[in-house]
Amino acid sequence: MDIQASIFSEKLIQWYEKHKRDLPWRQTKEPYLIWLSEIILQQTRVNQGLPYYLKFVEAFPTVVDMANAEEQEILRLWQGLGYYSRARNMHHSAKLIVEKYGGYFPTNYKEILQLKGVGGYTAAAIASFAFDEDVAVVDGNVYRVLARVFGIEEDIASSKGQKIFNELANILLPKGKSAQYNQAMMEFGAIHCKPSAPDCPSCIFVEKCLAFANKKQAILPIKIKNIKTKYRSFNYLVLEYDNKLMMKVRQEGDIWQGLYDFALVEEGDTAQASLLTDIFDHLKEVGLISMRSNYPVNGQSPILKEIIIINESKQYKHILTHQQITARFIHLKINAKEVADSIINAHQLKLYTLSEVHHLPKPTLIVNYLKENF
Ligand code: SF4
Repeated sequence: MDIQASIFSEKLIQWYEKHKRDLPWRQTKEPYLIWLSEIILQQTRVNQGLPYYLKFVEAFPTVVDMANAEEQEILRLWQGLGYYSRARNMHHSAKLIVEKYGGYFPTNYKEILQLKGVGGYTAAAIASFAFDEDVAVVDGNVYRVLARVFGIEEDIASSKGQKIFNELANILLPKGKSAQYNQAMMEFGAIHCKPSAPDCPSCIFVEKCLAFANKKQAILPIKIKNIKTKYRSFNYLVLEYDNKLMMKVRQEGDIWQGLYDFALVEEGDTAQASLLTDIFDHLKEVGLISMRSNYPVNGQSPILKEIIIINESKQYKHILTHQQITARFIHLKINAKEVADSIINAHQLKLYTLSEVHHLPKPTLIVNYLKENF
């Protein structure tokens, strides 16, 4: 090691005390609040996560309040953060804390790790920040700082790489100062040794940093990706009847479980023979999609005769971690109650007024469409 563990951690802590951002979850030792902030900040930047943290603390000041909430309330508050399984797992864990621990948060790394949605990083963060347990956090920021300062070229996605980084992080951790040290490490990665354009000239480690010495800042840390992106094309039928919109709750086994969207015809999904695909195919066949004026659908079926095209939206692109979704929305008005009822019954849809729609938890894609069109 080119730099002694004690010097590394001392320099890092000194830097932290001078440069740390003033964030509300750093003012507390309350494990529930630390847990909440850590779950919100998984895959989310501090600036984006902060208002969500404040909203959740206001709505659910204690873990018991969260446990007693309806899942829909949690998802509604979470709306826009993405990765909705995080919110569902958090709710599940809140209930478990009440049932198993009488509303008291578990107090050590091993027990915290048993909570749903809590991995090694989050358990280490809570155990060290709230209970001063000597366990090092290892997240994307930590990988980056360690890989660069110590010139480690092992793939951070491999189990061998994770073991090396985890061991080094724990060797560097000064006993009894885990809370301060872990915060310092993450903060240094977040605001100084950033993924692109790290501020090397003014860095406390510039004289020892192997990435700087070998001009390898841009390639470290090494992460070999092998998960392919899935491309999906969504055609949403925004069905309106009696000034209300038809929506449905998304089920298990796909993205956005528990959130609400519209009737969906996904291209390439051969398993979905239905009334909706009939409507959509017919609109395509007669060339009505892409028209932007009110136009009656003169199909053969009595159902299609009762449908008016209001408009077709622009294309929306929505990027998730391993999926890229292209979506368009076709706003259709239904004139007859029997037709509305038959579509509703065949597709588990329900009618909602616009104000009810506003209060349902929805994926950001749907929120953006509604904002621009209703
Ligand atoms: S010298 Fe540059 S690459 Fe090395 S730790 Fe400092 S900011 Fe990061």
